[in-house]
Amino acid sequence: SVVTAPRRIQALDQDVTNKIAAGEIIVAPVHALKELIENAVDAGSTSLEVLVKEGGLKLLQITDNGHGINKDDLPILCERFTTSKLKAFEDLMSISTYGFRGEALASISHIAHLSVTTKTKDSTCAYRARYEGGRLAPAKPGQSADPKPVAGRQGTQITVEDLFYNVPTRRRAFRSASEEYNKILDMVGRYAVHCDGVAFSCKKHGEAGTTISTQSASSTVDRIRQIYGGTVANEVIEFKSANEQWGFKANGWTTNANYHVKKTTLLLFINHRSVESTNIRKAIESTYSTFLPKGGHPFTYLTLEIDPQRVDVNVHPTKREVNFLNEDEIIDAICNTIRIKLANVDTSRTFTTQT
Ligand code: ADP
Ligand code: MG
Repeated sequence: SVVTAPRRIQALDQDVTNKIAAGEIIVAPVHALKELIENAVDAGSTSLEVLVKEGGLKLLQITDNGHGINKDDLPILCERFTTSKLKAFEDLMSISTYGFRGEALASISHIAHLSVTTKTKDSTCAYRARYEGGRLAPAKPGQSADPKPVAGRQGTQITVEDLFYNVPTRRRAFRSASEEYNKILDMVGRYAVHCDGVAFSCKKHGEAGTTISTQSASSTVDRIRQIYGGTVANEVIEFKSANEQWGFKANGWTTNANYHVKKTTLLLFINHRSVESTNIRKAIESTYSTFLPKGGHPFTYLTLEIDPQRVDVNVHPTKREVNFLNEDEIIDAICNTIRIKLANVDTSRTFTTQT
């Protein structure tokens, strides 16, 4: 064999590394949307409207009525690691808001056309800014990139257009817009159930009606009804579980033994962030296995608050995975609570049919 000299090692171009990093955080339109929803909720919004075109690949727009963004912060809004939610590393240990790394908007600006219109309470007008690759960008070449004063209400509107326009391999990986839209509806539905006091709407561009619409004053069960229907909402029972030693508080609504479907629906929020947990899903399914016919599964909405010092939210850039201390004990405690609730409903039912 021919021995050749090793190729020299070179640093990747910043633009390339930024796009790679962005692609790790945002794999599908729904991931961008989740970040935007969390930002809007962090901003204290009570109304959140989502508009979607072509499954979010053409357009994702989210309008909130939160506190808005200061005009002077707009130039650095989309730089990586700029955030109003974290000041020191120690703050990571006690962070209570959803976002914490200031990476979402930066990432989106590297792989989509991003524009922001925002107005704070004290500002006399709204400002509109466009971003490309983390920086302010002009609407047309040659124009100024400075934020423009425009008319607008208090709050923020984020518009994401042509997601993955500069990552053709990723763009081509999407088979159907309706599949992506369903993922978006699923995510909006989750937050709509979870966010007490926040009205949600989600709409396909060009369609008159909304696919999701909840009011800010509705109860949790009403929100479950609006999103998942009466067959679920009529059969849910509330549960609560807490333990100081393990530093957690859990509560939620779960279907009784009357209800069963082919697939478990688990709405899981840990410290108010929608996450996935195979361990929790499996434990809930096994709890129900003695109550439901074979192959039957429940609907469970579980919100878990864990002492921030015991949660490692920083494990994965996508933040979909959350690890916490005493996971087994906490899951056991929650499932025991659910088991007792199910058994109680069961006996009360037997009672009424016997008399
Ligand atoms: P993070 O949420 O981790 O701070 P982001 O990139 O998601 O990072 O957002 C950066 C900053 O932009 C936030 O810290 C917040 O100050 C501001 N921001 C983003 N979206 C909104 C919004 N909808 N309303 C008000 N401020 C926002
Ligand atoms: Mg954020």
